[in-house]
Amino acid sequence: MNAEILAVGTELLMGQIVNSNAQYISRRLQDIGVNVYYHSVVGDNAARLKECLKIALQRSDLVIMTGGLGPTQDDLTKETVAEVVGRKLTLHAETLQYITSMFQRAGWTMTDNNRKQAYIPEGAIVMKNNHGTAPGCIIEAGDKILIMLPGPPSEMKPMFEQNVIPYLEEKSPYKIVSTYLNIFGIGESAVENMLLDLIEKQKDTTIATYANEGQVTVRLTTKGSKDNSQDLNAEMEKEIRKRLGDRIYSTGSASLAEVAVKHLLEAKMTVSVVESFTGGLLANALCQIPGSTKVFKQGLITFTNGLPDREGAVQAARDIMNNSGSDLGLSILGEPILGEPVSGDTAFGETGPRVADSSGDKRNKCAYIALVSRNRQKELQCLEIKPVGDERRRKIYCVLQALDLIRINL
Ligand code: ATP
Repeated sequence: MNAEILAVGTELLMGQIVNSNAQYISRRLQDIGVNVYYHSVVGDNAARLKECLKIALQRSDLVIMTGGLGPTQDDLTKETVAEVVGRKLTLHAETLQYITSMFQRAGWTMTDNNRKQAYIPEGAIVMKNNHGTAPGCIIEAGDKILIMLPGPPSEMKPMFEQNVIPYLEEKSPYKIVSTYLNIFGIGESAVENMLLDLIEKQKDTTIATYANEGQVTVRLTTKGSKDNSQDLNAEMEKEIRKRLGDRIYSTGSASLAEVAVKHLLEAKMTVSVVESFTGGLLANALCQIPGSTKVFKQGLITFTNGLPDREGAVQAARDIMNNSGSDLGLSILGEPILGEPVSGDTAFGETGPRVADSSGDKRNKCAYIALVSRNRQKELQCLEIKPVGDERRRKIYCVLQALDLIRINL
């Protein structure tokens, strides 16, 4: 089955919002073995939407639309789709009742516009919107499938996961299993090199690598029969784990921060952090994770006088650990310049941070990341790194290194 994602919204065309729905849907369709061949975007204009829709239905088996399901005049997705596939819009009593009760509960006055959302193309499968008013729907028109989803990602994603994924899996004659292995500390080309023979020989299980903000993900995908209850990627995963070892920090979607917090929770340890040019990003990364209140004790942002060094970073980590009474102290210290945009900075190196700086800026822009423990006299680890790339990447890379220190040492 090949798919096309058609996003509706003038805001998208004007650059006011990013088409993150298409990215999300594409990624998830890949997980279940549906090939996405086209992304299109069209404004809130009936004639142009009709044109796009006709093209999409000609070239794709599955068309997934997002946006334009709201109550206002410019929300015309359903009306246009109904016209193109030759279906009447009919009142869906259950949806009307749902919308009415939502308005009653909130104490709002319901208008005719809101009733409009309860009209659905005849014969469509209706998908209830548990996070908003606009329902989604699935239309099977001959050998084509057309799916309409609301625009707001907070409404679209749960509807997609709860309704669309099971619907498409049911339609598929086989099952597709994808496993994601998340890696930190090796660049994408190095990972690819380490797996080259497997990639070249890939047959039943396909292997793909993706780089993302200093991290790499390896995706394994295998197609199998629906009654096979075994993990279809297990063998390949085992082989890849043998090669990449503890550089794989998680499977699935768990972030490095989630893994670090999980390790702290399991070890029943608390941590305090001190950071300079990352401006609180490390504390923020940890504090966003559920359970972090049990393990995060204190965070401090400070710029030390003079150039930071290894001893300074270890001492800073020790000071915050002792002052806060936490089990661990973690520091990221670097020159303030690392936290500021510097023109001409090179892009992030594929194999991680590089020492060379082609910007002509000869300053030795070192960052030191130290982890100390109350139970040990010597520091657990202290890294000296020279992060490159733009300011945001430099900061993110150092934060990831710090989180990885917790993971590795616990
Ligand atoms: P609602 O009536 O609930 O607002 P809708 O289906 O009419 O839903 P739109 O009016 O098209 O959706 O968009 C509502 C909001 O959803 C937009 O302002 C934007 O914030 C978000 N949104 C819409 N389309 C996308 C998209 N493709 N990617 C990311 N966000 C989107």
